[in-house]
Amino acid sequence: MLSYVDEIEVKDKKVFIRADFNVPLDQGIITDDTRIKSTLPTVRSVLDRGGSVILASHLGRPKGKVDKKYSLAPVADRLSELLGKEVMFIEDCIGKEVEEKAQHLKPGDILLLENLRFHPEEEKNDEGFARKLAGLADIYINDAFAVSHRAHASVEAITRFAGQKGAGFLIKNEITYFKKAMGEPERPLIAIIGGAKVSGKLEVLENLIQKVDKLLIGGGMAFTFLKAEGIEIGKSLVEDDLLDTARKVMKKADERGAKVILPVDCVVANKVDAEAEYKTTTINDIPADWLGLDIGEQTLKLFKEAIKDAGTIVWNGPMGVFEIEPFSKGTYGVVDLVADSPALSIVGGGDTDVALHRSGKSDKISFMSTAGGAFLELLKGETLPAIKALEH
Ligand code: AMP
Repeated sequence: MLSYVDEIEVKDKKVFIRADFNVPLDQGIITDDTRIKSTLPTVRSVLDRGGSVILASHLGRPKGKVDKKYSLAPVADRLSELLGKEVMFIEDCIGKEVEEKAQHLKPGDILLLENLRFHPEEEKNDEGFARKLAGLADIYINDAFAVSHRAHASVEAITRFAGQKGAGFLIKNEITYFKKAMGEPERPLIAIIGGAKVSGKLEVLENLIQKVDKLLIGGGMAFTFLKAEGIEIGKSLVEDDLLDTARKVMKKADERGAKVILPVDCVVANKVDAEAEYKTTTINDIPADWLGLDIGEQTLKLFKEAIKDAGTIVWNGPMGVFEIEPFSKGTYGVVDLVADSPALSIVGGGDTDVALHRSGKSDKISFMSTAGGAFLELLKGETLPAIKALEH
C-alpha cells in the first residue's frame, strides 16, 4: 500500500522531501518555476502540521561532480519568495555540516540541500549514500514523479532506510489521473500519439492498442505506419525494420475492434527548415524527394471527428516538427481539439507540454503530467521502480 503525505503524522518530525526542482536556468535565473510550484502543496502540508522539511533534488546533468552551473541555490531563493518564509540552503547534500543543520531543524523550518547529482552515488543507486540521506530525517516523502522511472539513490535505495515513507501530492495527482485515464476510463478512450519515431514509443503503442478505442497517430512515426500500408512516403522519416511491428499494431487493433487513424494528408517540404519550400498534399501524392513534416488540414478534421465523442483522451508527442512554424499547425490544431473537448484529457511529454504552454491553453487540459519519461513508462503499462519501492 502506498501512503500519501497527508496520511502520515508529521508533527515535530523531520521530513525529507525528494522534489523535482530540475528547472530551466538562464545564467542562474530560473526561467520557468512550474516545477517548484508543483511541490508547494506537499511542502506546505508538512509545515502546516508542525513538521520540518529537508528538500533535495537534482538539477541538470553535472555527471557526479560539483558544477556551480547546476547549483540549487537559485531555487532556495525562489522557494523562499513563494512560501513567504526563509529557506535555508546548504552547499552539499550529505556530510557532517548537513547532518548538524538537519539535526537542529525546528518545526516550520525548511532546509534545501545542494544538487544530489554532484555525487556520483546518486545515479548509481548507492546504498551508502541513500542511507546517509535517509538518516537526516524521520520520514521520507517522494514527490519527484519525473525521476520515479529511474532507480536512483534518492528515490529508490533510500526507501530501504527510511523510517516511514510515502508519496507527495504531485505523485498522488499523477497516479490518480493516470488510473482514471487508463484504469477504468470513461469511454471511448482515445490516445493521440506523435513524435519522431516508432522505436521510441514501441512498447507504448503495443500497450495502448490493448486498451484504447481509437489510436490517432501523427508526427514522424505516422510515416512508418503509412509505409506499412503500402504508401509512398518520399523522404519522410521511416523505420523500415519496424514495418512489421506497425502492421502488428494495426492487426491487434482490428482484432479488438479498435481503430487506428492515420493521416490522410500532410505538409511536405523539400527540407527541414523554416525557409523550405512546402505544400500540403494527400498522403498518396508525397513527392519522392520531399518529406512529410506535419499532418494536414484534412487529417485534423478526421481527428476532430474521431475525438468528438471521447470520454477520455491521452496525448503524447507532437504531430509534426512544431518547432518550425510552417510545420506547427497540426500540433497546435490538436492542442485546440483536446482543449475544447469536454473529455477527461491527460497530456504528457516534454514537447507536448511545450506546445501546450505556448498555446496558453494548459488550463483547459484536465491534467498535464510533469514528466516525459515517467509518463511514457506508465503508458507502457510499467510500474515505476521508485513508486513500487514506496509500497514495501
Ligand atoms: P519525441 O521525442 O519522440 O516525442 O519526438 C519529438 C520530436 O519529433 C519533435 O522534436 C518533432 O520535431 C519531431 N517530429 C515530429 N513530427 C516529425 C516528422 N514528421 N518528421 C520528423 N520529425 C518529426
